[in-house]
Amino acid sequence: MTPYADYHMHTPLCGHAIGEPEEYVKQAIKMGLKEIGFSDHAPMVHKPMPGITMSFDELPQYHRLIEDVRKRYASQISIKIALESDFLPGYEGKTKSIIDNYPYDYIIGSVHFIDDWAFDDPASREYWKKHDVNEVYLKYYALLRQSAQTGFFQIIGHCDLPKKFGARPTIDLTDEIKATAKVFKDTGVAVEINTAGLRKPIGEMYPAPNCLKIYREAGVPLTFGSDAHDPQDVGKDFDKAVDLAKSAGYSEYLVFKQKKIEKRIKI
Ligand code: ZN
Ligand code: FE
Ligand code: FE
Ligand code: ZN
Repeated sequence: MTPYADYHMHTPLCGHAIGEPEEYVKQAIKMGLKEIGFSDHAPMVHKPMPGITMSFDELPQYHRLIEDVRKRYASQISIKIALESDFLPGYEGKTKSIIDNYPYDYIIGSVHFIDDWAFDDPASREYWKKHDVNEVYLKYYALLRQSAQTGFFQIIGHCDLPKKFGARPTIDLTDEIKATAKVFKDTGVAVEINTAGLRKPIGEMYPAPNCLKIYREAGVPLTFGSDAHDPQDVGKDFDKAVDLAKSAGYSEYLVFKQKKIEKRIKI
């Protein structure tokens, strides 16, 4: 079996994940992964959000935690250090200062906010009733394109996240996704297959098969992530993720080192 890399997992520093980094590493080894990357939520740039992300003051602790397991498990598994950074227009300077502050292996850019609404937060779920679903998707894809254009990110996270609680667009968004895929290709970002969607109300991976195919056809490269917030989810459903990748026409995925493509690995 091809050894896979799980590039999306969290630590308890974000306030909504459980288990020590060492438990994530042990599970990864058990799952036969060749490499993992910790990509905990970067400190929020517009206001502190305890329970959502670590604070600025916790960044040194985050680095110490990951460096510790990286060294201790070096003979068994490769461990990369990364962040999942929110994209908030207007806060680019602050975002850049955080991600430039340490030699990360990659940064996942994720859109979790539309205007000031954390649309994937179960605590803000009621706000879906106040929004037009199609408009949410259109704004979301515009933000995805803007986030890729910053040049801050190597990977764009869970790139159809608005479906998390089951809200599907009722208009055809093919052209919108094609335009997004073109921007991804032109700016050199990868998309991830994120298996966490299988554990959410929508019950399917991000992105949906038809979306992934559009990214593939545009030549956008790929990574895999479980988005584990619990050690038992590390590497989960990667057999399904690889099937999805292959059915979209992918034959390889990327691993990164210090924000450069380190290797292309055949699947
Ligand atoms: Zn999270
Ligand atoms: Fe996320
Ligand atoms: Fe995540
Ligand atoms: Zn995520």
